[in-house]
Amino acid sequence: MTGTQGKASDCHDGWVRVALDVPLFGDYDYACAFPAPVGVRVIVPFGRRRMIGVVVAHPSQPGVPAHQIRSVERVLDDMPPLSQDWLRLARFAASYYHRPLGEVILPALPVSLRRLGAYEGKRSGGGPVARMDKRPGPAPENVTPVAAPILNEEQEHAVATICGAQGHQTTLLHGVTGSGKTEVYANLIEHALEQDKQILLLVPEINLTPQLEHALRARLAHRIPASSFVVLHSGLSDGKRLRAWVKAQRSEAQVLLGTRLAIFAPLPQLGLIIIDEEHDTSYKQQDGLRYSARDLAVWRGRDLDVPVVLGSATPSLESWHHAQTGRYQYLALAQRATSATLPHIQLVDTRRLKLEQGFSPQLLSAIAETLDAGHQVLVFLNRRGYAPVLHCGSCGWLTQCVRCTAYTVLHRGPRRHHYLQCHHCGDRTRVPPACPECGDMDLKPMGRGTQRIEEFLQAYFPQARIARIDADSTRLKGSAQRLFAQVHAGEIDILTGTQMVAKGHDFVNLGLVGVINADAMLFAQDFRGPERLFAQLMQVSGRAGRHTQTGQVMIQTEYPDQPVYQALCRHDYSGFAQHALAEREAAGLPPYAWQALLVAEARELATAVNFLERAAALEQLNPHTCEAAVHVTLYDPVALRVVRVANIERAQLLVESSHRPALQAFLAIWASTLGELARQCRVRYTLEIDPLEI
Ligand SMILES: [Zn+2]
Ligand SMILES: [Zn+2]
Repeated sequence: MTGTQGKASDCHDGWVRVALDVPLFGDYDYACAFPAPVGVRVIVPFGRRRMIGVVVAHPSQPGVPAHQIRSVERVLDDMPPLSQDWLRLARFAASYYHRPLGEVILPALPVSLRRLGAYEGKRSGGGPVARMDKRPGPAPENVTPVAAPILNEEQEHAVATICGAQGHQTTLLHGVTGSGKTEVYANLIEHALEQDKQILLLVPEINLTPQLEHALRARLAHRIPASSFVVLHSGLSDGKRLRAWVKAQRSEAQVLLGTRLAIFAPLPQLGLIIIDEEHDTSYKQQDGLRYSARDLAVWRGRDLDVPVVLGSATPSLESWHHAQTGRYQYLALAQRATSATLPHIQLVDTRRLKLEQGFSPQLLSAIAETLDAGHQVLVFLNRRGYAPVLHCGSCGWLTQCVRCTAYTVLHRGPRRHHYLQCHHCGDRTRVPPACPECGDMDLKPMGRGTQRIEEFLQAYFPQARIARIDADSTRLKGSAQRLFAQVHAGEIDILTGTQMVAKGHDFVNLGLVGVINADAMLFAQDFRGPERLFAQLMQVSGRAGRHTQTGQVMIQTEYPDQPVYQALCRHDYSGFAQHALAEREAAGLPPYAWQALLVAEARELATAVNFLERAAALEQLNPHTCEAAVHVTLYDPVALRVVRVANIERAQLLVESSHRPALQAFLAIWASTLGELARQCRVRYTLEIDPLEI
């Protein structure tokens, strides 16, 4: 053992406490006859199974009677133990999100480091790390190095301010689309590399933002070998993920570019964390440990005393609020880095207009003019499929999923035949030949999705080359990249799609962005609806005119007076944020309050509600909970908007406090009692901290 010798807590032939990936709060103590430092992985018996776990402590006395103690079978020493700072991050996440430590630690590891099969059997060959080391890594991608461009004044100020500070500081880098955030990142990264530090750069989705990766690789090519620029995301094979993880731990990865899961990468020399598009909801994990990678990044930066940079054109209201109140440093990039100006955003009031398949005459003629001028057009509609529902004009019958309280969406499949699909449970059915209620054969699609828009545009502009980018058209691996490449090569005249088209792509020849049906998000039940709408429309608008020409954006709406649209036309994020924050403060909503959401699932809604009611009553039973609950509000259980999904009914209970420590203290006691109650009530439940959707 290195570096840990001589400490009493490292005594080898004693007890070890092991974190295991099981959904139970509790300590699992084992006897251990081998050296097993904290952070090392071990194979232990658990019930009738055997599992891989991680040693997290050396208790002086085991937490169970001596005769029940079992022994560690094997210590896995094919890679160094997880470091103390990594374990601190895991402990913080476990306590903040109220999950057993093992449910944080093990899922954060690459699969092959936690799967028993990888270490056993004839062909295990010394474990997955040894096997990986024997195989050469993939040849690094060839890039043409790009020289550093000259920074404008704002960029230079941002770089100097962030690099000039000592220790931890969270900075909100507020830069309009095209203001050159990437170049600021590149300079910050270079500065950290000069000090032999590792850099963690998080992005919402790598596959949709290849341009950022290419730009940074090219910019840093003269600084670091291509093999030191490593990517880590869930789309990688197990083997590639393991390789990225091990390179990070060995400090061979100098720049680690990853999605949210990369926040758990071991980085012994970590010196800078950058979160691009920090407002993006994909930083929040939506199952298992429902962590926010952005929030964990801020914690990790503070813990390690290193700078954290949050970049966005439309910051989350939480981060904006922190910047306003001085908790975060605020730096703005207000001018576009290239000569291009901001696009002109125009609202088309559709209240008195006759629309053709959702298009106003104004938008149709603007599309025609843009195509005539030889520029590309982007039509944005955040709804995939052909039409949201099929309906009977005679009796009003609508297609509904038999397993969910939701309409089924009409899709056009290959060879143009249609089918119905539920977007909640994924169930597919045939289109009925006639209305099952009244027998009318004339069933009609109601409303429109991207497929119908594409069909209409092709009929209206028969000469135009049209492509659609959404979750359906990009299901096959590499198809999104192919479609985007066609757009960049000028082989597409009109691109239509969902928010997938809005992320990260820089379209050189785009002259017009048309937005259809933006109002749907305006009146979403979620209080974050307007915030998301603003961010999304700002992002999609930013695709227009990023280079030489001035781009044009047309947003069709029936509510042109809404503050969110008015602020958009002025490119006025801070005006929007000020208005939205005032509303949040008046309503006592985040960031002026802290929330947790308990969701219960059962066959019957009544069962789920009963569990939630009893959970809410628990605070009265336990005096400690009662004390902690003084500053906490528990709302009445309510059914979810889509109450039934795949024949499971769901209800939720919102817990709220204006005081975060009070909420955390309450949850710490409350969460540990929920498991037993759920077993009694026969429900499944999730407790989510800082939920993004309510
Ligand atoms: Zn009918
Ligand atoms: Zn369904």
